[in-house]
Amino acid sequence: MNYSEIMVRYGELSTKGKNRMRFINKLKNNIQEALSIYPDVTVHFDRDRGHVYLNGTDYQPVAASLQKIFGIQNFAPSYKVEKSVSALRQAVQDIMKAIYKEGMTFKVAARRSDHSFELDSRDLNQELGGAVFEAIPNVQVQMKSPDITLRVEIREDAAYISHKEIKGAGGLPVGTAGKGMLMLSGGIDSPVAGYLALKRGVDIEAVHFASPPYTSPGALKKAHDLTRKLTAFGGNIQFIEVPFTEIQEEIKNKAPEAYLMTLTRRFMMRITDAIREKRNGLIIVNGESLGQVASQTLESMQAINAVTNTPVIRPVITMDKLEIIDIAQKIDTFDISIQPFEDCCTIFAPDRPKTNPKIKNAEQYEARMDIDGLVERAVTGIMIREITPVEEVQDEVDGLIEDLL
Ligand code: ATP
Ligand code: MG
Repeated sequence: MNYSEIMVRYGELSTKGKNRMRFINKLKNNIQEALSIYPDVTVHFDRDRGHVYLNGTDYQPVAASLQKIFGIQNFAPSYKVEKSVSALRQAVQDIMKAIYKEGMTFKVAARRSDHSFELDSRDLNQELGGAVFEAIPNVQVQMKSPDITLRVEIREDAAYISHKEIKGAGGLPVGTAGKGMLMLSGGIDSPVAGYLALKRGVDIEAVHFASPPYTSPGALKKAHDLTRKLTAFGGNIQFIEVPFTEIQEEIKNKAPEAYLMTLTRRFMMRITDAIREKRNGLIIVNGESLGQVASQTLESMQAINAVTNTPVIRPVITMDKLEIIDIAQKIDTFDISIQPFEDCCTIFAPDRPKTNPKIKNAEQYEARMDIDGLVERAVTGIMIREITPVEEVQDEVDGLIEDLL
């Protein structure tokens, strides 16, 4: 027997009152986008649950894709069975023979949305439980947490049977919370921050600062690859590359070494905010973790954050490095993050950045620079590229050319 559909149960959105249909439609779109690589799969969603019809497609890869989509509580691969008692009896017997192992307990949990069906749910439980006993005489029934629960549902079009429930990713459908700009470096923390923002329904765009020739094409590719990993959870992501060389050189020339890091971060924040405004984002997301490095003390954060009123969300702020690494491994970004390409911040990083910078001092050094002009040129020079789940051939061609040079 092959699964005919995967039944999807919604997560937290069931509590969302009036917004419910908006959430469900968003979830449906996200699922459709993620499953668009399977041409035969179709999707139908109603108020209470979703149905992903496999139409002959293998269930395993579809289930693997579904497991990454936020807004799903759990899902169950199901068999479609003709709506007759004899067909149902045969089906539960076939299923149990295939999955039963010595000593397992079971129960049948039937429900009937088609009330014209000849048996009600209690009769169905008894009838189909009896069929199971005929096939496997030693099997034990257990009402509370049995090893196998055979869920039988009589709908208008047919009957459906499932016996396993797979946990979904939880969270809220991506896009239901609005848009945020993720400051994405090539490090371990910011991709994790992006993943966690996606989990709460934020539609992210990745903003990456690059300072060629100080930073290499390898560092840029790393940021692309990290973004591509994140697309598994929220669909395509706009990747915004910001030219940062001029600003880094200017800071290096005009400010004392102890403040390089603080000023660099303040410029990054200003520019990200300007891009956010242009592109209708609501928040900024970054990968700061309290106390991890000099730029992430409370004093530093205050000095850096002072350039904007926009909410800055820091999903990993209270996590230890090991906790962040755990998530990075789970979402498969860790191995990319540890590739050795220098980021724009490390290259100009002073040996002893100030851990307690003063806003007044930062402003005083910045008065030596044309802040507006620098920000404007960086914002005008951005390059936007859409990152999709599948690596484009162009990337490989770029790689080949680099190798040849
Ligand atoms: P990460 O692992 O995310 O790089 P980190 O611990 O190395 O973080 P920092 O390098 O101090 O910390 O960066 C703090 C945050 O600033 C990053 O998490 C990221 O959100 C942002 N950031 C740093 N460098 C860049 C960059 N080149 N482009 C975009 N954002 C950046
Ligand atoms: Mg970093």
